[in-house]
Amino acid sequence: MTGTLAFTGSPLDRADHLRGDPEALAGQMNWRARLLLLDGLMPRLGDAGALEWGTLADCDPEAELVFLGTMEGKPCFAAVPQEGADGPAYAQPQIWQAMNLLSEKDLATYGGARSLVDWHARHRYCARCGAMTVIAKGGWQRNCPECQAQHFPRTDPVTIMLVEHDGRLLLGRQPKFPDRVFSALAGFVEPGENIEEAVAREVMEEVSVAVRAVRYVASQPWPFPSQLMIGCHAMADDDALTVDKTELEDARWFTRAELEEARDAGAEGTDTLVFPRSVAIAHHLVAWWLEERA
Ligand SMILES: [Zn+2]
Repeated sequence: MTGTLAFTGSPLDRADHLRGDPEALAGQMNWRARLLLLDGLMPRLGDAGALEWGTLADCDPEAELVFLGTMEGKPCFAAVPQEGADGPAYAQPQIWQAMNLLSEKDLATYGGARSLVDWHARHRYCARCGAMTVIAKGGWQRNCPECQAQHFPRTDPVTIMLVEHDGRLLLGRQPKFPDRVFSALAGFVEPGENIEEAVAREVMEEVSVAVRAVRYVASQPWPFPSQLMIGCHAMADDDALTVDKTELEDARWFTRAELEEARDAGAEGTDTLVFPRSVAIAHHLVAWWLEERA
């Protein structure tokens, strides 16, 4: 895998030993502490396109605080906004602009913080009894004072896969994708299946192709709201496609030459294919295949 996957490589030390110790955590909430400045869930960017940090004095006194960890020896916090995410990230141009401007480390810091505070904003009530829950362990848990249930921030596993047949790769496009963009097929892992089974089921559902020899390649957190993208490669026995039009607008096999030409053409792409953006793991998976599977 070449290049850094977006939202990985956070410089934060999660400092788990502080989370579970209320006294130690309270001791971190001092004048040295840094507060990640957010407008709702949007990052506030400085002139240089970097994340902006303030002090705990900048925080709404009513807001819940989550402990992100320590950075350069300083404790770092973020405030839970009033409202959680109300729509998908692709509908928000500010998010794509921020993803283009932020450094790799800032993007990882923002992504982790966003997933965490968004989860708190959308999970204030107990899923078991409906009572208001309270933040615990610096924001890495919520407890219900009524029924004693414990709730933990979610990470939802999603498989995303390159399917290969006879030297070509299968890519698909959803109707919402920009013109000519094709990407790797993807889908949530469901209860009761492993990664290999989820890959095979998704490919069968979306294009009616049987796959084998599923193997893991790389993974990436995707904080809209809290997916873990699990990048895989699989072999198909047959290239006949029946595209499920409720999931995909189109799916096609692309030759190595077509993929290389689209990669080299950058954001404009070719007449038939625009490569997925580098912020997405699909970009790196296809680039990996072009480099490693030559
Ligand atoms: Zn409860």
